[in-house]
Amino acid sequence: MPTVFELIRDGEIPSRKIYEDDVCFAILDISPRAKGHTLVISKEVYPTVADAPEEVTGHMMEIVKKIDRKMRKVLNADGTNVIINNSPASGQEVPHLHIHVLPRFNGDGLSFFPPVQSYEDGEADKLLELLKI
Ligand code: AMP
Repeated sequence: MPTVFELIRDGEIPSRKIYEDDVCFAILDISPRAKGHTLVISKEVYPTVADAPEEVTGHMMEIVKKIDRKMRKVLNADGTNVIINNSPASGQEVPHLHIHVLPRFNGDGLSFFPPVQSYEDGEADKLLELLKI
């Protein structure tokens, strides 16, 4: 079964496309979490970011940077959220690499980050060792 983004890529369902090249394209999200919420989507299907080659993720981040600059310029955004939901546990609904870019404004009251949690004694140091790369 093709992903919804393959159908958009192939022109089988409509979208509002703001950018396209050989590697990726960018569209307005159909259910915007902020006005101007954009998705930068790989042309090839990679279920998660770790599945995609460096050239693809690197290139997509360059497009994210252009969109960030554009949102600041034409929407007067004060900032952006750049988000990848990576696997269903993180909230990813479409298993096809895409980067959310949301324009943000001082005092807009939106929130995109889980609430702060606390570590048990010693837990942060254990994680430090486990997570070193
Ligand atoms: P995620 O939960 O990170 O996989 O995000 C998938 C995103 O795709 C959601 O924000 C949806 O609103 C968006 N989406 C799903 N179908 C479409 C569509 N046909 N056109 C534009 N955006 C879509």
